[in-house]
Amino acid sequence: MRPIMVAGNWKMNGLHADAQHLTQAILDAALAPTVPEVVLFPPFTLIASVAALARGSSLRWGGQNLFWENHGPYTGEISGPMLRDHGCRYVLVGHSERRQIFQESDEIVFRKVMAALHAGLTPVVCVGESEQERESGQTWEVLERQMTAILPALGANGQQANLIIAYEPIWAIGTGKTASPAQAQEAHAYLRSLVARKNPALAQKVLILYGGSVKANNAGALFAEEDIDGGLVGGASLQAGEFVQICRVAEQIGRGG
Ligand code: PEP
Repeated sequence: MRPIMVAGNWKMNGLHADAQHLTQAILDAALAPTVPEVVLFPPFTLIASVAALARGSSLRWGGQNLFWENHGPYTGEISGPMLRDHGCRYVLVGHSERRQIFQESDEIVFRKVMAALHAGLTPVVCVGESEQERESGQTWEVLERQMTAILPALGANGQQANLIIAYEPIWAIGTGKTASPAQAQEAHAYLRSLVARKNPALAQKVLILYGGSVKANNAGALFAEEDIDGGLVGGASLQAGEFVQICRVAEQIGRGG
């Protein structure tokens, strides 16, 4: 049984006081220490604020992005070793907002995945189709293309599931239009089958999170699906009570890994 994970992507939101409030609310909820694993992705400027409170607890944190070089003349960029230096264990890679707004190609996503792995971070790699791609029947093709780009990195350092996949249909992100549990399960099973083509043992181990308008009232049905190993939560992760409730839902499902 794979463990379950709940991750909060704060995107470009929050100031120091907000980070303190949100982090403290999760710590106060005293979730079971390993079930679920809860990870916060604050903006870079708030990583230290989260870390100051969460260090020593079971709560984890990570960066929303990284650059593929470790240091040098890359004004405005942040590297994997810098994130590690701030206690990050995870980093988001290839979020659809980065793919769309910042033109991150599959090749760039792969370079970032490798940079994260070299820095000792676990990349949470986002894949997902747009509304138009779904409506024109291209969903599986798009997912296969995005997965083919990152699969060479999977298991690169042994038989560990060294990365996490987040299935985030773009039409469901920030829109309130959640994929139905059946739609999400179908996509997750497909993604797992793509991993299985490369490595059947790792396909059973790799976590595949669902993202796209996850809320406390739909998390239970989504997380109960066989191939859905938790959620990447955007908007709802900025509301302490709602996010804690989503974590509680995951806790009740209680997959210990
Ligand atoms: C996200 O941006 O990763 C996301 C899933 O956002 P939301 O939950 O707001 O749809």
